[in-house]
Formats: sequence, C-alpha cells, structure tokens
Amino acid sequence: MKDWVTRLLDWFERHQRRLPWRDDCRPYYVWLSEVMLQQTQVDTVIPYFERFIRAFPDVPALAAADQQAVLKLWEGLGYYSRARNLHKTAQLLVAQHDGELPGDIEALRRLPGFGPYTTAAVGSIAFGYPVPVVDGNVLRVFCRFWGIATDIRQPRLRTELQTRLTPFIAAAPPSAFNQAMMEVGALVCRPQAPRCNACPLQADCVAFQTGRTAELPVKSARKPVPHHQIVAGIVWKDEKFLLARRRQDQMLGGLWVFPGGKSKPGEAPATTLRREVHAKTGLRIRVGFPYCRVEHGYTHFKITLTAYRCEWRSGEAKALTSDEVRWVSLQEIGTYPLPKANHKVLEAVRDYERMQGNAG
Ligand code: SF4
Repeated sequence: MKDWVTRLLDWFERHQRRLPWRDDCRPYYVWLSEVMLQQTQVDTVIPYFERFIRAFPDVPALAAADQQAVLKLWEGLGYYSRARNLHKTAQLLVAQHDGELPGDIEALRRLPGFGPYTTAAVGSIAFGYPVPVVDGNVLRVFCRFWGIATDIRQPRLRTELQTRLTPFIAAAPPSAFNQAMMEVGALVCRPQAPRCNACPLQADCVAFQTGRTAELPVKSARKPVPHHQIVAGIVWKDEKFLLARRRQDQMLGGLWVFPGGKSKPGEAPATTLRREVHAKTGLRIRVGFPYCRVEHGYTHFKITLTAYRCEWRSGEAKALTSDEVRWVSLQEIGTYPLPKANHKVLEAVRDYERMQGNAG
C-alpha cells in the first residue's frame, strides 16, 4: 500500500475544491485568502475575496487605498485588525519590496501580521517552502491520526505537530501537502461525524483503528465569557446623527460607531448615556426611547446593546476618545464601515425614521 503522504496527495488531486485563490495562486491572492480564512469559513470568504481583488487587484492598489475603503470591503468579516494589518503591510511592501511579497521566508516572517500560521501558509503555497501549517483543521486531523490526547487549546501542541510534520512536508510538494492537510480537515475529518470511510488516512489512523474518533481531539471547556450591557445614543441634530471613528489601537479600530458605553451595575440607561456621550464627545443630550436591543458575541465577551433615540441639547461635537467624530445623514452612512452590531442598530433606526417620514 502507498504511504499516507502519497495517499493524501492523490486524494487532494482528485477531491480539492476549486477556489478562486487556487485557480490563480499568485502570492498576493494566497496572502489575502489566508488572512481572510482565519476564523472564517471558505463559503463566507469567497465573495469577500472576489470583491476585494476587484477593488484592489494587487499590492500597490491596496497600498494606495484609503483605510476606510479597505474596512468597508471587510465589513462583516470581523477581526478588523486583519484588514488594518493587510493595508499597513501593503504600504510597507511598496516602500521596501517593490510592491511584491518577498519570496524569502525570513523576510515574510518579519512582516506585520505574519505570525507562524500566515508565514507557513504563504511561504509554502506561494513560494514552496517546506513549512507545515498547523491550523484548527490540521490540529484535529493529526490528533486523531496519531492518537494524541493533549488538550487542543495547549499552545505547545502546535509546535509539537509542526515538528512532527516537518520531515513529511520536506519530502513532498509543500504547497499541495499543506493544502491537502487542511482540505482533509474541512471535507472529511470534520469535527462531528468524520467521514472515515472516505478518508485517505484511514489505514494508519490511530483514532479510527482504536474507535476513538469521538474522543479525539481533547478540548477543554471554554471559560464562560463576560456579558456587558452597553448603551448607545443615536444623537440627532438637524437631520443628522453623530458617529465616532474608533482609535486605531482599539478593538474595531477605524470603524465608525454610535457613541455610548458600558453601564455600571444598577445604573439607569439614560444616566449612562448622558455620562458616556458627554465624556466621549462633549455633547449634552436628551435621551428618548430605545430603537432596539441587539445581542452580539465577540471572541472574549458578549454584549447586549440597547440603542436610544437621543437629541442634541448643547455643545460642539469633539473627538475626545476617538480619532474623529462626524454628523452623518441616513443617506450618507452607506460609505462608512460599521461593526455588525451597529449595522443591526442602523436597520432599526432606518425602519423607525422611514415610518416617521424622516428620510433614509
Ligand atoms: S480516518 Fe477518520 S478520524 Fe482518522 S483522519 Fe480520517 S476522517 Fe479523521
């Protein structure tokens, strides 16, 4: 029988999905797709990828773009630091590498946003370096394949697997080897109900041979995440409302949000809103009724966001804790990149204001 690497590569040859970044694997496309695919499903990524390369067909085009245009195209993909880093790195590539990704793995490793995963993926797929990628799919496949019972959340497991996989990738075409491992994880060795009978690794798989596919990989329970009550104000003045652009060093940096903040325990929402809006923009406001309540989950916490209709009372809007504040109308807001929770609020605002005949 053929060895497992040969079977894996044969399987990949026959079963790999056609993906836009596989049809044309120029380094820029590989880089962009790998960054988009972090924490995100392939089906979600494809339309984003296609829109992105239409708008920014190469590194110099991305570098020359306005950050707001980049974030707008990223809107809804989440983990916005990925977009900010892509943009920053494109500018650095233009300044230092003639607008191309360097074909040298050490130079890749030094680029902003290039951690071990992205370096291995771009290095192997675009430039043929024999560096194994260890993403969530690969962790799951090889914990089963080699019968490893270490908690999958342990960071040392990644290093361990990378070391164990290195001699195998060194003897194979690196791009196909890495993509095949990830593809088996996505299509066959799925988290629930792995399709062992369709798997090229079955003959050597410890989990399959010992009936432990449901036990492996071992994954400790996640700590419960905190839940915050957030209030936001849609502060109207002369048919426009106020938006603040979050600072670059903040979570959701560069995106525009309705001003507001976290409630203290037992505090009335109107009190929180008046305090937060004043502290963040210098405005005094009148707090009205809630437009909507939105539940949203981030990686490390959840929020319940309640958005209130407010009216400006006094003061000149200032960016006291953000990069910029602007009065924007419902007709203008389409070009502003907003986080998902604020988009949901915006829908409720539009619906209400339309019903009242107030534009939009
Ligand atoms: S045989 Fe089953 S458990 Fe083992 S790698 Fe293949 S799909 Fe996963």
